[in-house]
Amino acid sequence: MGCVFFPKEVDRRALLIAGLCAVIPDADIVAFSLGIPYESPWGHRGWTHSLVFAVFLGSSAGWLFYRRQRYWLRMALWFILAVASHPLLDMLTTGGLGCALLWPFSAERLFFPVRVIRVSPLEAGAFFSTWGLKVLLSEGVWIGLPAAGLILARFFWMKIRDGFAKK
Ligand SMILES: [Zn+2]
Repeated sequence: MGCVFFPKEVDRRALLIAGLCAVIPDADIVAFSLGIPYESPWGHRGWTHSLVFAVFLGSSAGWLFYRRQRYWLRMALWFILAVASHPLLDMLTTGGLGCALLWPFSAERLFFPVRVIRVSPLEAGAFFSTWGLKVLLSEGVWIGLPAAGLILARFFWMKIRDGFAKK
């Protein structure tokens, strides 16, 4: 996302922050050890998997790390999209409950009509198994390949544009 849509702002630190933003929604698995049921809005794939949370966390990260830059709002937008990508991709997975994407306006758990990404096990231990391997493979096909394709497409588009600019 950074390489394709925010090429001027992309650097190692920004990629790290965006990456963290994209995984933070799953910190909600602590809800299980707190006895909060999966289907609760405060449970796994609940409030932290909403667009409101994405706006809150993404803009906070943009302000926290880039407020002294004139382009901090662009960074905030990137981080908001990074957080939002998490529930949107979860909504393409084959298992578990859907995401409370519209929380706090609706607690309904949503999936997309088409679900192609193999769902990840909830226990870390189970990830080191054939299931974990199949999840990685599935994510590689449905997330990694399209992302790589977008980066390549942008690279060639820039090459073509620069070629025209020289003429
Ligand atoms: Zn998740």
